[in-house]
Formats: sequence, structure tokens, C-alpha cells
Amino acid sequence: MAQFAVIGLGRFGSAASLELMKLGHSVLGVDTSEKLVNKYADQLTHAVIADVTDRRAIDELGLDNYDVVLVAIGADLEASLLCVVHLKSAGVQTIWVKATSRAHHTILSKLGVDRIIHPEEEMGVRVAQALSYPMVNDY
Ligand code: ATP
Repeated sequence: MAQFAVIGLGRFGSAASLELMKLGHSVLGVDTSEKLVNKYADQLTHAVIADVTDRRAIDELGLDNYDVVLVAIGADLEASLLCVVHLKSAGVQTIWVKATSRAHHTILSKLGVDRIIHPEEEMGVRVAQALSYPMVNDY
């Protein structure tokens, strides 16, 4: 069982968190939105209201103790990048980040994150594969 932290409990972050829980892992969910944290509090190992653009929040949450931190902040480019910089300087070992634009991708690759995720493109490829192999994937 691995310990995951997911920053941002929007559609992407919450879906990833709930699936990790289903797969038997421990998940800390973090969001600035009290409403979202309350929504997922019963379904995740821990759910905490915090602003990850504040370095102190990263330290207080002990994010350096997690196996992987998934940054699922989309629209707020500045918040996503600042969070990654803080996670790096806190010594977090493995960082996966959702990217929302080419510019976002370019900066994230310069920061040396471990995986950059493009949900729409990756889902497009999976849908094409599912359409192409109807015997394997029911539709
Ligand atoms: P999705 O498509 O997954 O719903 P999105 O791409 O529209 O999300 P956002 O809504 O911008 O992305 O961000 C996802 C979540 O990240 C939101 O619930 C938002 O409250 C949270 N978030 C944004 N900034 C911060 C921050 N500084 N600290 C913690 N959480 C944050």
C-alpha cells in the first residue's frame, strides 16, 4: 500500500483520489475549497483545507513523507507551478502534475517533475484504442 497526496480535488483530482482508495492505497486530499474537502472527507484517508502556494502548508502537511504527490490544480497556472517549486524544495521524491497548456508543460519539464499528464490527450488516445479494438473493449 502506497501513500499518495492529491493536491486539488476538482473533477480530475477527486476521480484519481477515489480510484486510488478503491485500489487500496492511502490518500491525503488537499484543496483550498472547504466545500470540496467536506465532500470527500469521508471517502479519503485524510482531507485537509490548505493553500499549497504557501510553503508552510507543504511542511505542515508533511508532504515529503508521501510516496507520490499528484498536483491536480488546472486553471491556476501560477498556483500549480508554485506548488511544484515548494514540493521540490521540500524534498518530495516523486511528483506527477496535470498540465493544461503547452507553456505549462514546458515549465514543468524544466522543473524536472516525474510525469506530466494531459488528461484530454491521453483520454483521446484511450478512446481511439477502445474504438479500434471492440472485441477487447466493450462499447
Ligand atoms: P478539474 O477539471 O479537475 O475539475 P480544473 O482543471 O478546472 O479542475 P481547477 O478547478 O483550477 O482545475 O483546480 C482544481 C482544484 O484545485 C480546485 O478544486 C481548486 O480549489 C484547487 N486549488 C486551486 N488552487 C489551489 C491551491 N493553491 N491550493 C490547494 N488547492 C488549490
